[in-house]
Amino acid sequence: MGAHGRIHNFGAGPAVLPLEVVNEFSEALPNLGGSGFGLLEVSHRSGTFQEVIDSAVRRLRKILSVPDEYEVLFLQGGASTQFYMTALNLMGKMGKADFLVTGGWSQKALDEAAKVGDAVAAWDDSKNGFKSVPKNGSYSVREDSDYLHYTSNNTLFGTQFHSLPDSQGKPRVVDASSDICGMPIDVSEHDVIYAGAQKNLGPSGVTVVILSPWAAGRPEEGIPTMLDYRTHINKGSMFNTPNTSGIYVLDRVLAWMERNGGLEGAIERNQKKADTLYGLMDGSDFWRPHASKDSRSMMNVTWRLADEGLEGSFLTEAEENGMGGLRGHRSVGGIRASIYNACPLESVETLASFMSDFESRHG
Ligand SMILES: *Cc1c(COP(=O)(O)O)cnc(C)c1O
Repeated sequence: MGAHGRIHNFGAGPAVLPLEVVNEFSEALPNLGGSGFGLLEVSHRSGTFQEVIDSAVRRLRKILSVPDEYEVLFLQGGASTQFYMTALNLMGKMGKADFLVTGGWSQKALDEAAKVGDAVAAWDDSKNGFKSVPKNGSYSVREDSDYLHYTSNNTLFGTQFHSLPDSQGKPRVVDASSDICGMPIDVSEHDVIYAGAQKNLGPSGVTVVILSPWAAGRPEEGIPTMLDYRTHINKGSMFNTPNTSGIYVLDRVLAWMERNGGLEGAIERNQKKADTLYGLMDGSDFWRPHASKDSRSMMNVTWRLADEGLEGSFLTEAEENGMGGLRGHRSVGGIRASIYNACPLESVETLASFMSDFESRHG
């Protein structure tokens, strides 16, 4: 157990937040920044809240080096709404889009886009159990496609792109829900980046959307108001009432990142955490990591035990020892440790030493 009786939280999302941020949130509840208004009670039209949202946009732009001409939005409806919204805005009924299907989330994104226009899988690894992401050259994007969609980190299966997928000259759209601000990304190589905040950036109920000038200016007509990117661009993410407290937490998480070495600091810590777990598993036949080596996720580490019959006791004992959220997603089974930015190295070291101990007792 950590401070305040908190468990080592390996949950996939909503996920652990920095304790400093949790404390700032509870201090802001009765009175936000000395304004006299409580965090849940302040108008989104107030100067106090305008400062919060401006600050969050500014910090995100800086951390990700977002080009000035790109738009940064904080919307609602989760990444799941973006599956449809991106398609609606970027291709419309007459358009085409190609998808790299690397797991459950990219399949859902494709299914939604197919309700809008002609969307197909350029690559689909379901028959191999989604153990890896495609190499450049192993798929082709249709000549007349409007964009290529990919999922940078596959949260369920624990795979991740470690280099930019070749879009063969087409715009790139990425669902970066589970690795935004936790991996290097060249924003200028993308036209849409979207991410539910609840994994790497803060609480549920806020969706980050970053749009290139091309994506912001698509001329599709007849889009319902709330699903039209231009609505939200024109009103600075405040066409309707945004998730005010969620945006506050997002700003605090970004400030915490800035105090801890920014994006580079986060990547360095994430690498160390991932190496700790993969290194331990590579040293023994007791563990069976799911992902192929070259596609391993630094954010969601997934594995089975060679003796699958021991997985139940692994999870029970882990919980008895103060570690929670480790049950694998039902599509893979086994174990999944989500080790996003805010998961401390100490939690990962605690897990690794529990694993060694478990192996010595059952191996
Ligand atoms: C969690 C997750 C989603 C779903 O996000 P919601 O905000 O719940 O809609 C989509 N894509 C990826 C990659 C995810 O990890």
